[in-house]
Amino acid sequence: MSDVAKTERLFRDLDLLEPILRALDETGYEKPTPIQSRAIPPLLEGKDLVGIAQTGTGKTAAFTLPMLDFLAGDPQPPSKRCVSALVLTPTRELAAQIGDSVKTYGQHLKLRSTVIFGGVGQEPQVRAVRNGVDILIATPGRLLDLCDQGHVDLSEVEVFVLDEADRMLDMGFLPAVRRVLQMLSEERQSVLFSATMPKDIVELSKSILKDPVRVEVTPPSTTVEKIDQKLLLVEKADKRALLSHLLNDDAIERVLVFTRTKHGADRVVKHLRRDGHTAEAIHGNKSQGARERALSGFREGRITTLVATDIAARGIDVDGITHVVNFDLPNVPETYVHRIGRTARAGREGVALSFCDVEERPLLLDIEKSIRLQIPRFGEHPFQSSEPLVRPSEKRPDLQPGGRRGGRSKSSNSSRSGRSGGRGRRGSQGRRGR
Ligand code: AMP
Repeated sequence: MSDVAKTERLFRDLDLLEPILRALDETGYEKPTPIQSRAIPPLLEGKDLVGIAQTGTGKTAAFTLPMLDFLAGDPQPPSKRCVSALVLTPTRELAAQIGDSVKTYGQHLKLRSTVIFGGVGQEPQVRAVRNGVDILIATPGRLLDLCDQGHVDLSEVEVFVLDEADRMLDMGFLPAVRRVLQMLSEERQSVLFSATMPKDIVELSKSILKDPVRVEVTPPSTTVEKIDQKLLLVEKADKRALLSHLLNDDAIERVLVFTRTKHGADRVVKHLRRDGHTAEAIHGNKSQGARERALSGFREGRITTLVATDIAARGIDVDGITHVVNFDLPNVPETYVHRIGRTARAGREGVALSFCDVEERPLLLDIEKSIRLQIPRFGEHPFQSSEPLVRPSEKRPDLQPGGRRGGRSKSSNSSRSGRSGGRGRRGSQGRRGR
């Protein structure tokens, strides 16, 4: 009974300020997602938090709503160049999306927010922060530039969010993040979100967070359940023709294709266009303008196929992706889960098609081990690889070394922590450090 009550929790039960609830209502959100219902109460109490969740879980609102609540509950007069809440995120696309979320959820509040990122002129950003802002959303490089030039003062930050910490690590931003941390005051609430927790991020979180509440949602094995995953064995040289063939299916409305390299992405696009498909590539060699044009074309349905590298795809938040194609398999199994999670968002169903050539078979086995699932074969296709796939578990027992059966692994009892702690009303302490 208490479990039912917990899953049926509404935003109204979360003790958020009325203007925030109204904005959520107008946005059409009825119920908090699991990360939201578990992260918002401790954050409203002012606790530090480590959230293990990927894009698509609703994590942005999970950290944005308590931040808005906190700042609006005790408004401060603007102070030159100062920032009250800082969100650090790895890519400009993510920064822009978080900025949009802050504006949406905070539309009935009088808080000033701005977004800063590299790749565009800094003057408008300098003007935006000149008189101070309540919420600053930034990528690390540009933020440091503006701090070094004296345009931004981080010494009064009361809420600090490090978003997508594992991507920060992948993209080489950890030294920049550490420099930003040195500029913050000790008196602050800190939040770290990461889809995965490699060792470096565990270490980093220890240096940022004080006695944090840990909230973890959608471990890989459950994230992928809603997605119809299929494996297509194909020779490397036939991959482009296979993709083109699959795209003739009308069920594919919006497809995100992942390639390992930027050149690979460009080659795929060229090939698809030659075959009459609408496709664009998005990767680090494209200008900001070209990336934005490709994204808006994709979002608005003028372009069916977007071909991306992993890093470029990080910031893509497009609803209604019906299919994800792993044109090349990723080297890291977790990336597979990340990629296919781009479809089947917000409760919808999605399809993930993975191409696998002979050289990629070890990668496939790693992925299957990690997701604890053998990806089922796609039915017939005209570019079938001639080399059969034999998984270790499919080898006949008498052919295995020692002739012993592998034996099924014991059923693992995943224990859920589900800690949400006792909720006390916030606000009694006022803003920390003041
Ligand atoms: P995020 O994980 O923050 O990137 O959010 C993923 C998507 O879910 C975004 O498109 C959000 O607008 C949407 N979203 C976030 N919270 C909710 C909610 N409580 N109900 C419905 N949609 C949501």
